[in-house]
Amino acid sequence: MAKVLIIGGGFAGIWAAAGAVRARRAAGAPDDTVAVTLVDAGDDLVIRPRLYEAGPERMRVPLDRFLGPIGVRRVAATVTDIDTAARRVTALTRDGAPTHLDYDRLVLAAGSRLVTPGIDGAQHLFDVDTLPAAAALDAHLRQLPGTPAGEGRFTVVVVGAGFTGLEVATELTARLRTVTDEPVRVVLVERLAVVGPELGPGPRLEICSALAGTGVEVLLGSGVAAVDPAGVTLGDGTRIPARTVVWTGGMRASVLTGRIPGTRDGLGRLEVDEHLRVRGADGVYAAGDTAAAVAEPGHVVMQSCQHAVPQGKHVGANVAADLLGLPLVPFAPDPYVTCLDLGPWGAVLTTGWERTVALTRDEAKQLKRKINSEWIYPPLDDAETILHHADHRTTWPTATVAGSA
Ligand SMILES: Cc1cc2nc3c(=O)[nH]c(=O)nc-3n(C[C@H](O)[C@H](O)[C@H](O)COP(=O)(O)OP(=O)(O)OC[C@H]3O[C@@H](n4cnc5c(N)ncnc54)[C@H](O)[C@@H]3O)c2cc1C
Repeated sequence: MAKVLIIGGGFAGIWAAAGAVRARRAAGAPDDTVAVTLVDAGDDLVIRPRLYEAGPERMRVPLDRFLGPIGVRRVAATVTDIDTAARRVTALTRDGAPTHLDYDRLVLAAGSRLVTPGIDGAQHLFDVDTLPAAAALDAHLRQLPGTPAGEGRFTVVVVGAGFTGLEVATELTARLRTVTDEPVRVVLVERLAVVGPELGPGPRLEICSALAGTGVEVLLGSGVAAVDPAGVTLGDGTRIPARTVVWTGGMRASVLTGRIPGTRDGLGRLEVDEHLRVRGADGVYAAGDTAAAVAEPGHVVMQSCQHAVPQGKHVGANVAADLLGLPLVPFAPDPYVTCLDLGPWGAVLTTGWERTVALTRDEAKQLKRKINSEWIYPPLDDAETILHHADHRTTWPTATVAGSA
């Protein structure tokens, strides 16, 4: 029996598992020809794109309801090492015992993590990168009214005006108002001279309008030098009293990418070929936030669900095909779109890599709600539905909406 091992039960990992099972079935190969195992440190698929919302504890889906029905074995353990020569992975189980998992084909889908800054008082920063971190911020906001009155009690400083910083900041004024009737203040601090620097000029007008409309103060060209429980100090010495500081800096691929021979890009992602095989590492594939796959000529994928899901489906099809001696399929995602939540102002949907605005305000917000509450959730419990959606040729509904916008 050939063994596929997938590291990571995020968006790329679960769809890699389903894609492999689907491809094995489609090839008419018996179940015992290719066994699929997924190892993840947790028990749930965490819906990371929703962690900026209130009540983040809800943003998860039990992995067993997706993997169980399609016959994928799940191992609850934290991977600590990958030996590509021996084709063996070492992991620590929940009780701290080391375990070894052998593979014929490995899919690294261990995702990414927020890069925290090396500034004084970094331990006082909140973030929305992981479920525990988002839950800690949520609990902290809700207990603010019980803390001693004083300057900065209901002030939140959000550091970084990228995609996540914008979603967090525009949501926060309304979130703070649910905990207090006192005046609230949200300050967005960005090191560069523009908001949404990585989003380009396309949606900037809408972003500025939303920041103004939701009452977010914007400080551009300002870096944070130090943080303490009572506020932040900017590089130019400006002091902002604030009991809450949320860091939204950059994301970097899992450290496990460093255990695999191969070239990595500036985000720590492994270079992969068009079939998502890691260049220079025999039998190893990568998908999602760990892979620098080419989305279209001249464009590498974004660290996003939009690209992690189709990468998962393609990589799953390819590991099964590889083991069964069948042709591999080249990675081909849907046309690129961005849907940015801008709080009570609405949202903005852009199409293409130039990010041309296609929908704004309520229309875009309705779409964002659909994405966040329906489309990013995988089907559960029913094997046929799961495997139907695991086909790498299926498109996301956003592709249709963007095409008709
Ligand atoms: C606040 C926020 C908002 C976002 N908004 C959007 C958005 O609007 N649209 C969009 O497309 N994307 C968005 N993203 C990005 C998106 O969430 C990621 O790109 C996506 O989750 C990547 O999927 P993945 O499967 O590669 O990794 P992940 O979802 O990170 O999953 C990785 C999995 O690997 C597991 N793992 C990691 N290390 C180990 C280990 N050593 N051992 C065992 N298991 C391990 C983790 O537990 C996790 O389950 C957002 C992210 C955040 C944080």
